[in-house]
This record gives sequence, structure tokens and C-alpha cells, in this order.
Amino acid sequence: MRARNLGEADRIVTLFTRERGKLDAVAKGVRRAHSHLAGRLEFAAECEFLLHRGRSLDVIVSADIVHEAWMRLVEPERYAVAAVVAELIDAFCEPDLALPDVYALLTGAIRAIADARAPRALLSRFSLRLLEMLGLAPPLGSCVHCGASLATEQLWLDAEAGGLIDGACRERWRDLPELTPGDVESLRALAAPKGRGLASLVATPAAAAAVEELVAHHLGKRPKALAHLATLGA
Ligand SMILES: [Zn+2]
Repeated sequence: MRARNLGEADRIVTLFTRERGKLDAVAKGVRRAHSHLAGRLEFAAECEFLLHRGRSLDVIVSADIVHEAWMRLVEPERYAVAAVVAELIDAFCEPDLALPDVYALLTGAIRAIADARAPRALLSRFSLRLLEMLGLAPPLGSCVHCGASLATEQLWLDAEAGGLIDGACRERWRDLPELTPGDVESLRALAAPKGRGLASLVATPAAAAAVEELVAHHLGKRPKALAHLATLGA
């Protein structure tokens, strides 16, 4: 997911693994010309690693590429979207906590982004699936203030409360972003488990904005990579 230099020739790489979730490991000598690891630790590459348990950090003994999307991710928008995906997983997931669902979501997202013509359209669904796996998904069937069940109707987003509110509750909280019935339907399709709602996987603009607000609320900040993506234009 990311890497930083260590000493003269080493790097510390942050991996997201199926078995142990997020972890930092040292790639020794990787910045030397003849390193056997060089070229295998590219951003978003899926590898099979052999790790040696070190005193503080694990040391990468070998890395074999299982799937690498690098050649297709050099396209600026794809790269920027993959960077958002990596930043969100990095920020939301604790080290040394196995999250196999998130691992599958990550690898699936990277493959989809590498093939996508409109990669940023994938972010809303990815973000909602991630929130769901972390237990942070907005309840889309009930008002987060009063608990009343919601139909497909005019609703408002209260990102601070982590979900949607109905007209009755909105009276007391003005100035919240408005969602049309079409936006609400879009959010529900995006949040549906795999295999459902495939027809409407592209979010309406207001639904996409609502997802970004919810992510920013749970994260406590806006992802940096999202700001970069915005500079690339539509
Ligand atoms: Zn309510």
C-alpha cells in the first residue's frame, strides 16, 4: 500500500495481507540495483510473501507476484483512484488484524480499477462496502435520529450522525444535503451485497457526495488522495 525509505538501501513497506491484515515489513537492500526484491514491491501489486519474523518488524525474504496491475495503473485517474482505495484501507484498518473480506474487496477493487474506463465511478460502491465490512455502514432503511423506517422518498444526509434522516427530523437540522428518491435508490443499490443492484452501480452525483461525506465523518478527515483525484478534473 505504501513504502518509506529506511537507512541507505532498505525500505519499510506497508502490506495488506489476507492472513494478518495490515503489517509493516522491511525490504532489505531493495534500493540497490541488483536486489531480487526490486520491481516486485510496486504499489498495488499482489504478491505471495515469505516473511522472517524480526525483533520489531518482519523482514521480507521473498516476494512472488501473483497479480500486478502496475502497467494499467499508470494511467493518472486509475492511479489516483487506486491511491484512494489504498489510503482508506490503510486508515481504517488496524495493524495485525486479519480482515479477509477487506482483503478480497481490496484485490477485487484494484483489478476493477485497472480495467475501468471510468475508474472514479467505482469509489462509491467500494467505500460503502468497506464501511459495511467495518460495521460503519449507514442504515439506509431507517432515520438515524428517530429510527422511523424510510421509504424511497425525499431524505437528507446527516453525515455527523452517520446516516439519513427523514422530513420530520430535518425540521430541526436545516442546511443538510438533500437526497431525492433517485439518490436514495442509488445509495441502496450501491450498498447492496454482491450480485444485487448491478444495474445502478454508478452513483448519482448526490449519492456519491453523500458517500464521501460519510467516509470523511468516520475517518475524521478527508482522504488526501481524494483531493488529488479532484485536481484531475472530471
Ligand atoms: Zn427521523
